[in-house]
Amino acid sequence: MGMTRRRWIADRWDEATASLSGEQAAHLIRVLRAQTGMEFDIVAGDRVWRGVIAGISGDEVRFNLIAEVEADPALPVTLLLSIFKFDRMEWALEKATELGVERIVPIVARRSEKHLAASAQNRVERWRRIARESAQQSRRSDVPMIEDPTLLKTAARRESEGLRLLLAEQERSTTLRQALSTAMKEAGDEMPRIRMAVGPEGGWAAEEEALFDEEGWKAVSLGPRILRAETAAITAMAVVAAMLE
Ligand code: SAM
Repeated sequence: MGMTRRRWIADRWDEATASLSGEQAAHLIRVLRAQTGMEFDIVAGDRVWRGVIAGISGDEVRFNLIAEVEADPALPVTLLLSIFKFDRMEWALEKATELGVERIVPIVARRSEKHLAASAQNRVERWRRIARESAQQSRRSDVPMIEDPTLLKTAARRESEGLRLLLAEQERSTTLRQALSTAMKEAGDEMPRIRMAVGPEGGWAAEEEALFDEEGWKAVSLGPRILRAETAAITAMAVVAAMLE
């Protein structure tokens, strides 16, 4: 494995320059004693650059971008993550980011607790920050997109492309691995985008399973044991990573 350096996510950039502000800049200046001429890897949008510090002013560090660094793309996976206990959900979000998830849609399912569903919108900024910090921690070149909380019905209909997999513990005939393997064979080299939905702690309601089915989602299993929602989300990501990478 090549050496990976810590990557800094630009707050602003254009074709030739980028700048960091806020906490990242403060860390660079105070902890790493940034000085003009020092080099760091900078993520600007979906590209990574070797940047050389061109100037430091107040709480901003400015870089000249000198060469593009090869980026590792995210896995082509959107996770529909039901809203469940926030601490566990945040853990799932952080780990899914480490494992390469591209996009997460928090969904309000029938059995998402009411008070959590009601305060989910207020959590989104925090979730985006967690995704961003986790992406940086795991040297990702991009930050997964965290959508606004969405009603399950809307999400099941709107997320209508690619391979759509409903993680369901009652499913006995098809495992996630088998479904992926079949899709990969059918698709040849071009892997379709994957969407995976994970239910809340109480699982999916029967009418939700019926709706997913109508919308063309396929139920898949992660094995005979019942996993907690956050374990199911991470396991599903790990299976996809193992098969695609
Ligand atoms: N309703 C279940 C119960 O209490 O018996 C538990 C639901 S489980 C805690 C939460 C979610 O994790 C499920 O809705 C499903 O999406 C996923 N999940 C858990 N175990 C799974 C398995 N063995 N296969 C597929 N998905 C699983």
